[in-house]
Amino acid sequence: MKKKLIAGNWKMNGNLAANQALLEGVLSGLPESACHVAVCVPSAYLAQVQGMLAGKGIDLGSQDVSAHEQGAYTGEVSAAMLKDFGVRYAIVGHSERRQYHGETDALVATKAQRALSAGITPIVCVGETLAQREAGQTEDVVKRQLAAVIHTNGHCISEIVVAYEPVWAIGTGKTASPEQAQAVHAVLRAQLKAASDHAERIHILYGGSMNAANAAELLAQTDIDGGLIGGAALKSADFLTIIGAASR
Ligand code: PEP
Repeated sequence: MKKKLIAGNWKMNGNLAANQALLEGVLSGLPESACHVAVCVPSAYLAQVQGMLAGKGIDLGSQDVSAHEQGAYTGEVSAAMLKDFGVRYAIVGHSERRQYHGETDALVATKAQRALSAGITPIVCVGETLAQREAGQTEDVVKRQLAAVIHTNGHCISEIVVAYEPVWAIGTGKTASPEQAQAVHAVLRAQLKAASDHAERIHILYGGSMNAANAAELLAQTDIDGGLIGGAALKSADFLTIIGAASR
């Protein structure tokens, strides 16, 4: 069985002092044979966190990457720049970027491509809104979102990580039940299998109010290979409990 991956998404939270305290707490309790662990931090703190994590067994991630290689794109951060800071993972297509920044499936696919070509693993987020779930469209939505990424990156699709994040569960305290999450993960796994002979090795993470209390049950599902953790990644004790549940 492959090692699970637990990735924290700090979103737009933190400051120099808080980041240091949070990481010191996580590093001091990290189990010896931990699962893969990463923290996806605001760009402004990549250098700080890179320095603190060097050789410590936690990988560095970003929360986005530009779809452009370089040039006149004010405010954007390129994949090559992220690579300069030792970034291993880049979240792409988070629902907050789709919702607040109008990111389309095609743009998300290009961002994944930029990350891959710089040697960064994209964590591709897919997920349905509450209205889409209630309309019975969950499967269609997540398959459409993933299909765009497969279409653009088919040749190296086994190098991506997928995160199923139902929008209605993000930051709301409402979690998909283990059965609901597993059902969608199975759909995504089948889609990846149709695109790649190596789909079994792709990590499919669950994200959406995963916390210290519900992580073990979610992580026990066959096709749940880890978690993308928002709020609970900002508290070292909770993040460590989730890492512990994924390291068994
Ligand atoms: C996220 O932002 O990716 C996320 C899963 O957030 P939360 O855990 O807070 O729902």
